[in-house]
Amino acid sequence: MEINILEEFLEVCDEKIFRCINCGVCSASCPISKFMELTPQRVIFYLINNKEEVLTKNTIWLCASCLNCQARCRKDIDFSRIADALRHIYLREMAKRKLLSELEIDKIKREVLVNSPQQLFIALQRKFVYY
Ligand code: SF4
Ligand code: SF4
Repeated sequence: MEINILEEFLEVCDEKIFRCINCGVCSASCPISKFMELTPQRVIFYLINNKEEVLTKNTIWLCASCLNCQARCRKDIDFSRIADALRHIYLREMAKRKLLSELEIDKIKREVLVNSPQQLFIALQRKFVYY
């Protein structure tokens, strides 16, 4: 996508990612991490290192905000807020590129429908913003 993902993230989320000690407790606590292309621990690592690929991994769509990881993180980091912010950034980037320009499902381009997770469209209806 060629964006400064760290800068974008810090604009919309104040979660304390720089406190992360990369211990992996969050990933070990997550009931669905085995299905994730990047574990929560790795997502934070990618973010801190400004790797925009974090937006293309399924982790941000699979996180169910159960807060299991947050309850066990000794640095009090709430990963669900991080995933939420990344979903928001993803949707915003899609809107900027006119790939998502309307809420009507029949107006969404086929390539987006085919390649995007269903949760995207649920999140879209909740959070869509016009630019
Ligand atoms: S449990 Fe907390 S400190 Fe450890 S890797 Fe996860 S977010 Fe970072
Ligand atoms: S909040 Fe998300 S990342 Fe954390 S344990 Fe639950 S599903 Fe996994």
